[in-house]
Amino acid sequence: MSEPGIGIKTEKTFDFTGGNLCLDFVNTVEGSRPLEPQRELLTHYDDLVTWGLQAHILRDQQASRLLARAERAPREAATVLEHSVLLREALFRIFLAVAEQTSPTVNDLRIMNDALVVAMSHAQIAEQGEEFLWTWPEIGEQLDCVLWPVLRAAADLLTSEMRYTTRVCAAEDCQWLFLDTSKNHSRRWCDMKSCGNRAKARRFSERKRQHAQ
Ligand SMILES: [Zn+2]
Repeated sequence: MSEPGIGIKTEKTFDFTGGNLCLDFVNTVEGSRPLEPQRELLTHYDDLVTWGLQAHILRDQQASRLLARAERAPREAATVLEHSVLLREALFRIFLAVAEQTSPTVNDLRIMNDALVVAMSHAQIAEQGEEFLWTWPEIGEQLDCVLWPVLRAAADLLTSEMRYTTRVCAAEDCQWLFLDTSKNHSRRWCDMKSCGNRAKARRFSERKRQHAQ
């Protein structure tokens, strides 16, 4: 995990247990829907930049540039944050539908497609050694740039067979999404350390209570 860059005000440490950039972005809220404001992790534009850094989308210098730009244009930064959360919720509903083997709504796909068009207008192909790579030459230049690679990851996942491994955490109070790439497709929790252990502890205390009766 990268160190927070110079100028980053928030000290949040985000989780990256989704196995896919888009799902990690979807998991920037705690608890289950409807959203409780106190469990929102993207409460300030800086949080989006911090997440972008920790997701290795941004380098320190690019993050600092974005923060400076946000300081100069706070209203624009607030709009980008608001749009990011709306988009995240649409992506959440789309991939929850995939996990539950139902269809996402036309409206959510439209939200994703509208954002995808913008994102991909910033994408370029570059030659690196013997390979050709997707690149984002303008990363760090525009306030919404963190969303670009997220949208590409979302489109790639949705159009690949990997989408069938999308799961929602089995914990009652968690709706994080992840790709179950375990050999026997048995992963149930977003994170064994937090949700898995909590569920285990609950089952243990329930069993104890039943024995005591
Ligand atoms: Zn969980």
